[in-house]
Amino acid sequence: MRKKIVAGNWKMNKTLSEANTLLAELDSYVKTNNPKCEVVVGIPYLYLANAKEKYENLNIYAEDVSEHQSGAYTGEISAEMLKSIQVDGAIIGHSERRQYHKETDEQIGAKVKIALENGLTPIFCNGELLEERKSGKHFEVVKKQTEVALFQLSPEEIKKVVIAYEPVWAIGTGETATPEQAQEIHAYIRSLIAEKYGKEIADEISILYGGSVKPANAKEIFSKPDVDGGLIGGASLNIKDFGALIQTYSDL
Ligand code: PEP
Repeated sequence: MRKKIVAGNWKMNKTLSEANTLLAELDSYVKTNNPKCEVVVGIPYLYLANAKEKYENLNIYAEDVSEHQSGAYTGEISAEMLKSIQVDGAIIGHSERRQYHKETDEQIGAKVKIALENGLTPIFCNGELLEERKSGKHFEVVKKQTEVALFQLSPEEIKKVVIAYEPVWAIGTGETATPEQAQEIHAYIRSLIAEKYGKEIADEISILYGGSVKPANAKEIFSKPDVDGGLIGGASLNIKDFGALIQTYSDL
């Protein structure tokens, strides 16, 4: 059985005291409710070390990582630094990084590789823009993103990657892909991996859906056979919604 994951992505939100409050609530939620899915939170770099020290029931992820080993890259954080404070993984190639920081598929691939080399789990994000969906290019776009970033990896490496399919038109917009649209493209991504690495490996890889997932729409999406959980932005910022999403998974 592949891993089922509910992952939050806080983006650039929360002061230290707000972060501590939500992490404490979430940690205690997980401890008390023993969910059937893995619970991940992607949080700003600034709070990672403290979170790793205090909250042992959570998987703590960075929201990005540098593609470089070390050196003169002002403002960057390396995979080795993240590992040195026991961070569990990193979200890589989020559409906001692609859009605002012009990250390329090659760069994203280098980030995935260096994360794996340092024992971090990468959540690799892919997904098409609205105009690409409208012109029927979504399969092609997702194929290229996935092939360029991931198909350099060995079979042993790709098994450790988590994929998050996030149609850009659904992120933070209140619009979601229909459960059928999500299933269709998740199955397609899995078939690409199967073609390259074989069915056994493809069946082991968790593929999360992201894009305006809320307690009201999660059950239908999470129930689809190739959807292994969610990457959640807005609804991960309060315990009521995020707890409800974790519970939705546990109740399936
Ligand atoms: C995200 O940031 O990855 C995301 C899916 O955001 P939201 O849930 O707010 O659409």
